[in-house]
Amino acid sequence: MRRAALQVALGLDHQGFQHRLAAWRFHPNGTEGYAKAEVTIGGISTAGLSSQTMEARDVPGLYAIGDITAPPWLAHKASHEGVIAAEAIAGKHPHAMDPRNIPGCTYCHPQIASVGLTEAKAKEAGYEVKVGNFPFIGNGKAIALGEPEGFVKTVFDAKTGELLGAHMIGAEVTEMIQGYTIGKTLETTEAELMETVFPHPTISETMHEAVLAAYGRQLHM
Ligand SMILES: Cc1cc2nc3c(=O)[nH]c(=O)nc-3n(C[C@H](O)[C@H](O)[C@H](O)COP(=O)(O)OP(=O)(O)OC[C@H]3O[C@@H](n4cnc5c(N)ncnc54)[C@H](O)[C@@H]3O)c2cc1C
Repeated sequence: MRRAALQVALGLDHQGFQHRLAAWRFHPNGTEGYAKAEVTIGGISTAGLSSQTMEARDVPGLYAIGDITAPPWLAHKASHEGVIAAEAIAGKHPHAMDPRNIPGCTYCHPQIASVGLTEAKAKEAGYEVKVGNFPFIGNGKAIALGEPEGFVKTVFDAKTGELLGAHMIGAEVTEMIQGYTIGKTLETTEAELMETVFPHPTISETMHEAVLAAYGRQLHM
C-alpha cells in the first residue's frame, strides 16, 4: 500500500499554522506501510491525538480524522471523528468516540456485521463471558425469504450482564447491527435486551433469541 497525504494550513501562528487539514489515503501499490496504524503528520504521531477532540496533544490546532488516525478504517468512523473535530474547532464540547462501539459491516453474501469484542478477545481481556448463538434456520422470516443460512452470536460479561459484543452473518445483518450498537452505546445489559419487544415476523427476532440463548432461555430452538 502507498500513502498519499494532503495538508492545508489555515492561518499562521508561531508554529506555522492554526488549523491544518490533513487528507491521507491508501493506494493498492505494494504492502509497505499498510501494517502501520500509526502515522506522523507534520512531525506529530497520531498516537498523540485526543479522542475527545481529535486534536494533537502536543500541537494545539492540529487535528486529524479518518484512516490517518487508527483502525478501523471505515467511512462512518471517519465521519464521526470529523464531527468531533469540527465541534472542537468551533469551541463546542464534543463527546469522545468509544472505539468499542464502532460497528463493522461487510457487504458480501451472506452479509457480515459486528460490534464490540469477540468471545476470544473478551476472554483475552479477562472477562468471564456468557455466549449466545441463534441460527437463522430458527427464524420464520429468514426461511420465508429463502435466507435460512446465518446466525447471531452475543457475548456478555457474566458478572455484570453488560453486552460486550455481537456478531452476525446472514441476510440484512448490516441493517440490524445498529440495534446492538445503540445497546452498547447505552451500556445495555442482558436484562434490558431480553425485555425489549422485537417485531414479528422479522429477522431481528434472531437478535432477541441470541440474547436469550446466552442465558439458556431461547424460545424457538
Ligand atoms: C474499495 C473500498 C471500499 C470501502 N468500502 C467501505 C464500506 O463499505 N464501508 C465503510 O465504512 N468504509 C469503506 N471503505 C473505507 C472508507 O472508504 C474509508 O475508511 C474512508 O473513506 C476514510 O475517510 P478519510 O477521510 O480518512 O479518507 P478518504 O475518504 O480517502 O479521503 C481522503 C481525501 O483526500 C484526498 N487526497 C488525498 N491526497 C490528496 C492530495 N495530495 N491532494 C488533494 N487531495 C488528496 C483524496 O482524494 C480523498 O478525497 C472502503 C474503502 C475502499 C478503498
